[in-house]
Amino acid sequence: MMDDEQFPAIMKQLSTIKDRSPFYKKKYESIDLTKIKNIEDFRKLPLTDKCELREAYPLGLQSVPDEEVVRIHSSSGTTGLPVIIPYTKQDVEDWAIMFARCYEFAGVTKKDRIHITPGYGLWTAGIGFQAGAERLGAMAIPMGPGNTDKQLKMMEDMGSTVLTATSSYALLLAEEIEKRGIKDRIKLKKALIGSERWGDKMRNRIADELGVELYDIYGLTEIYGPGIGISCEHATGMHYWTDYVYFEIIDPKTGKNLPDGEYGELVITTLRKQGAPLIRYRTHDLTRIIPGECACGSKFPRIDILIGRTDDMVKVKGVNIFPGQIEDLLKDIEGVSSEYQVMIDHLEGKDSLTLFFETKLEGKDRKELEKEVKEQFKSRIGITIISKAVSMGELPRSEKKSHRIFDNRY
Ligand code: ZN
Repeated sequence: MMDDEQFPAIMKQLSTIKDRSPFYKKKYESIDLTKIKNIEDFRKLPLTDKCELREAYPLGLQSVPDEEVVRIHSSSGTTGLPVIIPYTKQDVEDWAIMFARCYEFAGVTKKDRIHITPGYGLWTAGIGFQAGAERLGAMAIPMGPGNTDKQLKMMEDMGSTVLTATSSYALLLAEEIEKRGIKDRIKLKKALIGSERWGDKMRNRIADELGVELYDIYGLTEIYGPGIGISCEHATGMHYWTDYVYFEIIDPKTGKNLPDGEYGELVITTLRKQGAPLIRYRTHDLTRIIPGECACGSKFPRIDILIGRTDDMVKVKGVNIFPGQIEDLLKDIEGVSSEYQVMIDHLEGKDSLTLFFETKLEGKDRKELEKEVKEQFKSRIGITIISKAVSMGELPRSEKKSHRIFDNRY
């Protein structure tokens, strides 16, 4: 379903949003929604951000009478108040339908035994994986996280065929299975991993050590939870469910919509949500809409695997640059290690970007490599940089990707 077909669904939401949602009644107080005639008009509506949802704590987002709310979930509150999302019976069912569809896209069937390691509780993860499994008719094994001994014993005894996990927990389990030499007793065939930016190295290790096909599953608590999109067997981005959600990609700095194919921030509008509908919600996830159809033939469009968060993005010489793009670029150049650092300065009235990367090469070869990185950066990302190779181990190690980019301009 393309944008045009989704427009009537968007309009249907807007026609009653002020009556249903006290949050949007206030937010759109000075806006005449009846004046919206096309998708371009819609795209001029102000964006909704997480800090606003937080201000609505505890139940300011609730858009139905109390008797229709059957459950709440909450997003983690690492800073300040959490966001509380109320769900109606229909919302819970819609989420399960979308999640069952995710399993089907990953080739999971009723005969599978789904080992669920994401947490249960206020967080949306575990219960979403479970509801989808039950809807599909597969056997759910509701483990939750932790207790590796028990995880592996159940995995073996129950003959789990599908693992659902975060990438870090999947890696931990893969390493334990390897260490204990029990790979031949594990029957896993597929793993559904909550989408985040995770490197190919980690991906390959999990796939190899567990002997599974990997699928990226997308979602966020504010919009149902995981299950609003998933990759298919072709692993070329994640299909998303246009009958439930409308996706836009914007430039996170200007808020302007970007054409398909360009990277930017994902913005989501819910098309059916009752408990807490959201209009033009900023996810802060960086991705792009992949133009064209997938080789699997599905009509559901795709977004790319996430390349980071907007907080990691920098704008240099008018171009938005994300750590994920730099990683992808360096990965493809032979002789460059995965360690890099970016320094952005403002010198003599101009922005300059210096990219440091580690290499084993010396002398003339090193100079050649610097030249190649500079040329590749120009052709793939679009700006001219200062390219500096350093010896292996010279750059500081950091757990956080954001600590690789230093913006010294402000
Ligand atoms: Zn596909």
